[in-house]
Amino acid sequence: MPADAAGAPLRVGLLGHPLDHSLSPAMQDAAFAAAGLPHRYELLDVAAPDLPPLMAAMRAGGWLGCNVTVPYKTVIVPLLDELRGDAEMLSAVNTVQVEGRRLVGYNTDAFGFADALAAIPELRSAAGTAVVLGAGGAARAVVWTLVQHGWRVQLLARRLEQAAALRASLATGTIQPGTLDAPTAESRLARARLLVNCTPVGMWPQADADPLPAGIALPPELFVYDLIYRPIETRLLARAAAAGCRTAGGLGMLVAQGAAAFTIWTGLDAPRRLMRTAAERALLAGDY
Ligand code: NAP
Repeated sequence: MPADAAGAPLRVGLLGHPLDHSLSPAMQDAAFAAAGLPHRYELLDVAAPDLPPLMAAMRAGGWLGCNVTVPYKTVIVPLLDELRGDAEMLSAVNTVQVEGRRLVGYNTDAFGFADALAAIPELRSAAGTAVVLGAGGAARAVVWTLVQHGWRVQLLARRLEQAAALRASLATGTIQPGTLDAPTAESRLARARLLVNCTPVGMWPQADADPLPAGIALPPELFVYDLIYRPIETRLLARAAAAGCRTAGGLGMLVAQGAAAFTIWTGLDAPRRLMRTAAERALLAGDY
């Protein structure tokens, strides 16, 4: 297990900019405490020019690693020594582990989404067509996971070229790019089993927003998964539930990707139930 010789706390935290009320400190601190580890999770809100010196400081010692979020998941790649697992395929990193003087990048978002999908009984059986909204970093991990599990993906983005670039870079599976407008969304959803929101539209504090154009009928057989977890029920999920759809928010994925990061850093099984409870408590205590 990584720890310094004296068993002193090692630094670890979430790297991004800007960072607001992240649930990760509550979730990871609960896991460190349960494992009897002295580390405390910090928010590392740094501007882009400060990334290289921070990576150099990590190499110099005293760090366990970090999580990485918007806007640094791809920017950080050239500053690392190695990418492992899904990070290599996705060229995006959300977890860094310090190994001696080397920085190793992982991506646990794909695992987190796969784990969240596996927890939904009606989606465990044969795959079908999934409509994915947005073509940014999280969509990349989600689309990759879906095609690995045999789903056909209709990838809708407000910039068609972004969806086309994502499809070209994954170079696998059946991925059809389209524009996120009402006629396209309605026709693609008519044949879909699953809708996944990978845009930040509807996230606190803009909780009144909805990524799906107004007036589109949602088939009641559709399952709607929103990666957003603040608020717990987004406007999209409320609309889907009102149309008779089954729904889930992004907390399950958040906890699964965080648990995988904890295991990478410590080599220990993550106390997932505890981490979920800590994240839920932080969510309910916040002003969301
Ligand atoms: P990102 O890389 O910035 O990508 C966001 C995507 O949404 C881009 O395609 C962007 O298009 C699109 N978008 C933004 N505003 C839009 C709007 N008003 N209308 C239509 N499309 C819009 O962000 P990300 O890292 O993929 O994160 C996306 C969301 O997933 C965030 O809410 C994040 O918190 C959530 N997330 C959750 C988890 C979890 O564990 N539950 C994990 C990762 C991410 P443009 O490029 O044109 O702006």
